[in-house]
Amino acid sequence: PVLLGASSSSSSMIQSKRPITPPRPSTKRPLPESPGSPEVSREDMMRLVKRQTYSSKSELGAFLGQVSMVVVVHPMRLMSSLDELRDLDSGDWQNLCTSSQAATLILHTDSRRQMIGAFKIASFGSVSPGIFRLAPESGHAVCAKQSYYKSTAKVGGMSLVQHVPHDFQRQGKTLTMELRCLLWAHVLHSAVYGFTRRFLRENNKELPFTLPWMRFVHGALASSTGASTVPTLYLLEEVIDQSKEGAFRKYINNASAAVLDLKNPEDRHRAEFLAFCQHYQLIKTHGTLFVSDYQGGESLLTDPQIMSSPSLDSRQLFADGNIGKGFESFQNDHVCNKFCEFFELQRDFDFKTNVEGEDSDGVKSMAISVAE
Ligand SMILES: [Zn+2]
Repeated sequence: PVLLGASSSSSSMIQSKRPITPPRPSTKRPLPESPGSPEVSREDMMRLVKRQTYSSKSELGAFLGQVSMVVVVHPMRLMSSLDELRDLDSGDWQNLCTSSQAATLILHTDSRRQMIGAFKIASFGSVSPGIFRLAPESGHAVCAKQSYYKSTAKVGGMSLVQHVPHDFQRQGKTLTMELRCLLWAHVLHSAVYGFTRRFLRENNKELPFTLPWMRFVHGALASSTGASTVPTLYLLEEVIDQSKEGAFRKYINNASAAVLDLKNPEDRHRAEFLAFCQHYQLIKTHGTLFVSDYQGGESLLTDPQIMSSPSLDSRQLFADGNIGKGFESFQNDHVCNKFCEFFELQRDFDFKTNVEGEDSDGVKSMAISVAE
């Protein structure tokens, strides 16, 4: 009571020092809506209450349908010119990446939330902190890819096909090569935009059609190698959100440089642009390589294959999809389109990529040029 008295007397002293203010409007608020107001109807209320039950076994499965792990992330270097690639000794996969960082990866493992491709299985989830700094719009969402093999198990007399991720060694071989292809695709794709900008500026020309804005997803390798866990490796990529990018589609495959038959005129326009990219890349690299297997959404592309001249090396360069016939198909299957014509790409190829054994002196050449 002593304290209360002291407190009330000091507050009255403060009040007495205040200047006289006009009386405030009444702070009394109207009463909240009276009971029984129609905010939630009786029927809705009863339905709502009746849903508050214990979780079912299948609902509890959601806890088991995701895994979390601490990973070491190795983000892919972002380069935009062949000069930068040349200056990098890219033989070692570590040179393809910037400095590593720790992160927490959460993935949905429920097979209904995974996508299974011809060679890779893709899981979806999130990574924290976010790893694609130059693509902040991608947030924390991530697509985690692994190569796999098929295994058939007998369950109750039925054959069940399972998709089993390869072991760490095999995964490492495949995914570091995937990252290599993605890095080269970034560089070769950027080179096209660099050329088109220079061409328009130097020739003071305006494009009579739109130049599609497309790019490859950003990527990273993520390893989980704790002492108590089975070592695991993922290729992490930005998610191609189908609600923004449209349904997944292929524009050009790796078996042929022909544009695929696409129904949507905007897709055909993009596919022609990508065929022009191949033509330019072949010229820019002195006839040694181009990007193929163009696929993804309206603007984001993924899973590129680098096609290199079979004359370069008898060993496997780039990934398994780098098939000699696919490279050589350019000569017959590429049809120059409005982009090639507008940007004045050289059409007359001296395309002498000889099949092994046909040429006794082993000289294989392809002389092509571009007005640059
Ligand atoms: Zn062309």
